[in-house]
Amino acid sequence: MAKKKVRVDQSLCIGCGCCAGTYPDDFRIGDSGLAETVAETAEEDAAGICPVGAISVEE
Ligand code: SF4
Repeated sequence: MAKKKVRVDQSLCIGCGCCAGTYPDDFRIGDSGLAETVAETAEEDAAGICPVGAISVEE
């Protein structure tokens, strides 16, 4: 599956870890306890994993 440019809105993130657990190459939980991208790209369906809509993928 193609990777696309992605960002995490940390004002929405609740640190559940779903993204990092499912896509460990794309997301990690930072020192703040909130998600961040590893390389600002992710699998294009990654946004659907976030329960609070904090992940947005550029079309
Ligand atoms: S899935 Fe969403 S709420 Fe959970 S850690 Fe990732 S960005 Fe944050």
